Amino acid sequence: MLPLHTQPRQDEVFSSWLVRLALENEIPVHTFYYSLLQYHGQIWTRDIDRHPPHELLDLIAQATGQKANALARLCLTSYEGRLYEKLPITGDAPWLMPAGIYHRIRKRPGMQFCPVCLSSDNFPYYRKLWRTSLAAMCDIHHCRLLEYCPSCQAPVAFHQHGMGRLKNLRSDAGRICHNCRYDFADCVIAVADVDTEILEGYAELLTTIKSDHLYYLDLTDGNEFLLFKGIRALVGGLGGRNGFRLRSVLSALLQIPLVPEVGKDFEYQSVQFRMYLMLCVVWLLKGWPERFCEVCAEANFTRSRFSEIYNELPFWISSVVDVRLNLGSTHHSYEEIDSAIKYLSMREGSICWQSLGMLMGLKRDSAKSALNLWLRRGGRG
Ligand SMILES: [Zn+2]
Ligand SMILES: [Zn+2]
Repeated sequence: MLPLHTQPRQDEVFSSWLVRLALENEIPVHTFYYSLLQYHGQIWTRDIDRHPPHELLDLIAQATGQKANALARLCLTSYEGRLYEKLPITGDAPWLMPAGIYHRIRKRPGMQFCPVCLSSDNFPYYRKLWRTSLAAMCDIHHCRLLEYCPSCQAPVAFHQHGMGRLKNLRSDAGRICHNCRYDFADCVIAVADVDTEILEGYAELLTTIKSDHLYYLDLTDGNEFLLFKGIRALVGGLGGRNGFRLRSVLSALLQIPLVPEVGKDFEYQSVQFRMYLMLCVVWLLKGWPERFCEVCAEANFTRSRFSEIYNELPFWISSVVDVRLNLGSTHHSYEEIDSAIKYLSMREGSICWQSLGMLMGLKRDSAKSALNLWLRRGGRG
């Protein structure tokens, strides 16, 4: 057992705790893992928060007395079934900030941070949530997160504090830039300048991910994975090439600038854009589906415009796209009627031609024939 038992902090990410274990015992990280723990595998030249080797986990469990499930909670695999289905060993995953690891260098801002949070920690540590593209704002301080050191623009690489001739084993190391020694406590970031209700809605969403509560908004019967799959499809669509008109409408309506970098996925967009887009999406979700339908109508955005991302849409969005964004058309396919009926049975529990007609904008005879078509084609009554 180690002389100093450094417990993982709330929402701490595995790599942050690995660094603190060494630094709080005043031991350089390489000496700590290579000589003391006798672990000779890769740590800092790979994304150790993704799928850490069992051998390393076993050694750490022995040295710290932490249980295997406590260690698993620190890793990004703990978001499986919540933000993504399965986390691949390497490569992109939805909501995961790519770390761009090149030897011991970080080429991409895979680890975001809130300087206010770091400044208020006794021993600054890095949160697991900050590895997700979902988090572009601090859920506590409501300010935008930082991706780079504001002084030298280097991405965070706090493990570097425990290495090399410039090592810094001091307890405040986590809030000092490893590259230029800038103290993150010195930077001032304003609270995001948007309506408080939207800010709080976004913070609430982030807090939910941080905690063990699996429930946010009553849109997917408590199925959090489908909720975030849908939100990811929305930010992808809104931030993409086809989302231009929707962005213009949202931007004018909420007074939020929405200027993405062309051709980049959400995870590769700037933290500023991601924060603004998430705030818009939170606003849409708070009045789902009415606000979404209104914005689509204003932007003249019909079902066909969703064709590119249609297959990625979970039911709670595709049903709205099928039914509500198709009101003008007179012919409805079986799939559209089926979506309408599923939508109705989820919202109202029962289906009749009257409610189907109302939802799809059909007159009595058309509504009856739509329902009959559905029953004939094997729909369940
Ligand atoms: Zn903060
Ligand atoms: Zn710096």
